[in-house]
Amino acid sequence: MAVGLASSFLEPLEATSIHGTIGQLICLTEWMDQLGAGERYNATAARQVEDFRDFVRLHYVSERRDTAYWRDVTASHPPVVTERLEKWSRKFPSREDFEPFPLGLAHVQEQLYVPVLNGLGLLSQDLARAEMARDPKLRQRARETHASLVAEYSRAAEKCLPHRAWLESLHKETVA
Ligand SMILES: Cc1cc2nc3c(=O)[nH]c(=O)nc-3n(C[C@H](O)[C@H](O)[C@H](O)COP(=O)(O)OP(=O)(O)OC[C@H]3O[C@@H](n4cnc5c(N)ncnc54)[C@H](O)[C@@H]3O)c2cc1C
Repeated sequence: MAVGLASSFLEPLEATSIHGTIGQLICLTEWMDQLGAGERYNATAARQVEDFRDFVRLHYVSERRDTAYWRDVTASHPPVVTERLEKWSRKFPSREDFEPFPLGLAHVQEQLYVPVLNGLGLLSQDLARAEMARDPKLRQRARETHASLVAEYSRAAEKCLPHRAWLESLHKETVA
């Protein structure tokens, strides 16, 4: 059994390492006195890193084809990435689209995919609206979450120096 960087490494675009390691340790301690723990642990660790890889690969879905690099990236997406994108062009991503992770541990699921898809312009706004219309409670929760985030960030921003003022304060310290 291998844990952390000894088990796998992925480029840190999504910083999955610490979360992954904690998940591995939970599985290890939960299963270590059971028969077949090694196989179970290794299969789970392999699934974990493959799911992280697919999530990281999503970030490389781009319309760029202007260099050999981007053409190669586009031609080599894991099939699950293109299959999911095709599925999510017809339905809004949901928890049911993901195989549950062992021990009910938090994993890369719709809660992480939706913001990334949205940022990449790959989330259909029409599907999002239809999802809200289908479930009034969801719309209400989305409104409340949005309002509380705006309030929280506004409170934090009020306490912060503007970026330029902060840089100028550093410059003054350096000159002094
Ligand atoms: C600047 C920076 C920012 C990061 N930010 C994030 C983040 O935001 N989120 C995230 O998830 N991850 C982040 N990471 C990655 C994450 O910190 C590492 O992947 C994680 O700490 C690796 O833990 P590990 O225990 O597997 O390996 P390590 O922390 O590398 O531990 C390996 C240990 O083994 C020891 N060792 C090596 N060789 C031997 C030997 N022959 N004998 C005995 N001991 C040995 C080393 O001294 C070390 O103590 C970041 C990393 C860096 C550098």
